[in-house]
Order: sequence, then structure tokens, then C-alpha cells
Amino acid sequence: MNIIKSLKENSFADNEISKESLLHEITNCKACLLHQTRNNAVPGTGPIPCKIMLIGEGPGEKEDSLGEPFVGRSGKLLSQMLTDNGIKREDIFITNIVKCRPPGNRDPQKEEKKACQNHLIKQILMVKPSILVLVGSPSMKFVLDNKLTITKSRGEWLYEQVRYMDQPLAIMPLFHPSYLLRFSSKEAGKPRWLTAGDIQEIKKKRDEKIDDHY
Ligand code: SF4
Repeated sequence: MNIIKSLKENSFADNEISKESLLHEITNCKACLLHQTRNNAVPGTGPIPCKIMLIGEGPGEKEDSLGEPFVGRSGKLLSQMLTDNGIKREDIFITNIVKCRPPGNRDPQKEEKKACQNHLIKQILMVKPSILVLVGSPSMKFVLDNKLTITKSRGEWLYEQVRYMDQPLAIMPLFHPSYLLRFSSKEAGKPRWLTAGDIQEIKKKRDEKIDDHY
């Protein structure tokens, strides 16, 4: 099922998307082979409900050992950049497309992402974000079901009407922090500088959004 399409429809009953049932479902999930090699499933962290929800691709080694998303080197850079640009990490809900680490940090396969997507849809319906941040190209392509490039799409707002709120959901793709670790120059026009500006835009959007479902 397409992620955005399923957010427009009544895809799941309310009793299927409680925090406890979803946590149990994810930590006990064996719907794809990644369950065989995980140390910990990484469901996600953050307040529920929450205005900003951030979605990456999948857990790495550190995330797998701690059961928390974005806690390795690139996660630390992301947290620092969020803080530097006015967003506290603890104020956003952070998760990934797949909840279990692909062995050797390989990319998650198409079937693994498909197997895990109902967890993600339920999480979005549970967290009810008004802003969705898609971190990295695979996350953007999977959630939006498109073939756009991250270079062209990052920093651009897209809007989709979803069933859990009156205003459209605002969606922004961002460069992945692992890419920013490789290209670390803060010079104007470089990826890191662009991402700092994108986070400031997200903060601005969060501050101006007054939603009745929080
Ligand atoms: Fe289940 Fe997702 Fe983990 Fe696969 S990656 S076992 S679908 S929770």
C-alpha cells in the first residue's frame, strides 16, 4: 500500500495503532528475514502526538545495539544540527522505514521495506505529525513513491491532505547526515549549509502551524 495514499484513507482501526500494541508488534515482528540478525528492533523515539516526525532509512550498528534510532555518528550530527538551528531532538518523533538493522549496514531490500511499511503507516497515524521530514533519498523515494532526486527536492515543501487533520501535511526531504559527514564543509551553498537552512525552515513551519489535533 502506498504510504501517502494510506494516510488519506481509513487504513487501520484506532485499536490497531495504540502505542503499546504497536511497540509489541514491532519488537516481536518476524515479517522479514531482518528479525534473524537483529539484536534489537528500533521502533522509534519521541513524544506522541508530535508536530514533527522524522523518517530515515534503517538502523545501523549502534542503533541495533541500543534499540534507538539515529544514535551513531550521523545521528549525533543530526541532533547537533537540529539543536543549532532551534529544534530540540526530544521534541520530535524519530523513526526509520525498516525497524531492524540490515546486516553489514547494507541497504534494506524492497521486500523488507514493504514488509515493514504497515508499522510506519500506523506510527504516522499514531504520532499525527503536521510536518514530516524525510531524511535521505531512500526515505524520500519510499514514502513519496517517486523518482525525484534528493538534490532537487531537499528543502522543498510538499503538501498532502491526510485523514487525521484538517490542514495538509507538510513534507520536506533533507540530506542524510551520513552524506553531510562525507561533505563536511560549512561554506555557503554546500550541503551542510543548505541543510542548516532547511532545518530553520522546518522550525519556522513548526512555529507557525497551529493545529487543532495537539
Ligand atoms: Fe518486522 Fe520490519 Fe523488523 Fe522486518 S524490519 S522483522 S518487517 S519490524
